[in-house]
Amino acid sequence: MNAPIDWRAEAGRISFRDKAFIGGLFVPSATGKTFDNISPLDGRVLVKIAAGDTEDIDRAVKAARAAFEAGVWADQAPKARKRVLVKLAELIQKHANELALLETLDMGKPILNARNGDVRAVAECVRWYGEAIDKLYDEIAPTPKTALALITREPLGVVGAVVPWNFPLLMAAWKFAPALAAGNSVVLKPAEQSPLSALRVAELAVEAGVPPGVFNVVPGFGESAGQALGRHMDVDALAFTGSTEVGKLFLKYSAESNMKIVSLECGGKTPNIVFADTPDLDTAARGAADGIFYNSGQVCDAASRLIVEDKIHDVFLAKVTALAKSYEPGDPLDEKTQMGAMVDATQTKRVLGFIEKGKAEGATLALGGRQVRQDTGGFFIEPTIFDRVENRMTIAREEIFGPVLPTIVFKTPEEAVKLANDSKYGLEANLWTNDLTKAHRIARSLRVGTVTINNRDGGGIEVPFGGYKQSGFGRDKSLHALDKYSQLKTTYISVG
Ligand code: NDP
Repeated sequence: MNAPIDWRAEAGRISFRDKAFIGGLFVPSATGKTFDNISPLDGRVLVKIAAGDTEDIDRAVKAARAAFEAGVWADQAPKARKRVLVKLAELIQKHANELALLETLDMGKPILNARNGDVRAVAECVRWYGEAIDKLYDEIAPTPKTALALITREPLGVVGAVVPWNFPLLMAAWKFAPALAAGNSVVLKPAEQSPLSALRVAELAVEAGVPPGVFNVVPGFGESAGQALGRHMDVDALAFTGSTEVGKLFLKYSAESNMKIVSLECGGKTPNIVFADTPDLDTAARGAADGIFYNSGQVCDAASRLIVEDKIHDVFLAKVTALAKSYEPGDPLDEKTQMGAMVDATQTKRVLGFIEKGKAEGATLALGGRQVRQDTGGFFIEPTIFDRVENRMTIAREEIFGPVLPTIVFKTPEEAVKLANDSKYGLEANLWTNDLTKAHRIARSLRVGTVTINNRDGGGIEVPFGGYKQSGFGRDKSLHALDKYSQLKTTYISVG
């Protein structure tokens, strides 16, 4: 058996990459400016990070373009790109403890969630796209005998990726893995709160054999570095995950620059619909609790509206409330902790603001509602449940992105569907019922990208993920993600 890990001691020994990674090298920002990278565990500055801006993004895009034009990656046989990506997946797994620590220190998630959840999923994602890319065939169109029409997929060129802080490396991997597999060069801007793991993985990518310049990471602020990437005239596509508000800005940036392809994975307000005929209420209650308290509720498809049939409201809420108590926030470096910190002071204030709004609008606070562990200097909020919520209330409409669960009751399946669809978001819905016909009927009526039935899983890398409505467009994960990072070319040959 492996010896237990003293994560605190490991955290004291870890080293941070604090510069931008451009053309295969760590470089300071062009202005020499840095910003404080603060740990939400205790509010201390972990390290000062190079603050990338327009000039740094331009350097990164030039490096990416040069590598693309030289064909050092794009022109390699798919089998060769596969070998490198599989090697990168192995390196990620080899450095799993280090990468998990970087995630935990940077954004506050429990260490075992980081290692056994995020980092494992990142390695799987990179391996999956590596393994996939040499098994995809192009097409020949049905033409008269006198012609041969080839339909081939080609990489786009330079792909920009702007990602959030809730799953720093995984959200990045959902973009860079398919983009690299398809033969593109990548410029990634991580969130200002959580740049550490992406900088380390870019370095590992070069170690695995990704040629310098193919994978670049520029840390910095959204308004400067993020906007510069969105507006760059030589970026062919921009893949974004984050808030709907910022997602819309990328459409504007594209329209005002070079009409680059934009794909958006934005917010959600997942309805978790629980019918009285649910086969196992305990499993459903665990799904409801984990669905909102995992990662402190900082999850785009968090089960953030509990829509429960009125017949079982009391018994079901009692079960979820009892489970919620096991999510009391604890030290993220303690392996027993189930719920860690909020990402930063701003997000903490924002979530507490929503809790106040819930109370002010007349919802009943059934559990929690306070900031805790303030003596640590970090940012922690109790698991919080609101009862008797109406769908028109702010806490049922806005993406809170915290451990806050509003509970809404319904009487008929039609009412449940109406409540679920009454949202500007359409990322995911969860259904719990014993009646398969009802489940299928409702699943078809829900305007969301993913419906889970009698589970909260939603599937791994093999299924697409993305939203309807203002949850965005384009799909991450699965072979469909490759559509975002390649063009179709028709070559029409006369053979008659
Ligand atoms: P943002 O949408 O602001 O951030 C996501 C990414 O976009 C970050 O890399 C950010 O950079 C960048 N960005 C921010 N502003 C701009 C801009 N003007 N131009 C270009 N890029 C920009 O999310 P926040 O971190 O501010 O979180 C706010 C809320 O957004 C959350 O409470 C939650 O509701 C929602 N959100 C949703 C996520 C999801 O997965 N659906 C993920 C994260 C947040 P920087 O790091 O500098 O901010």
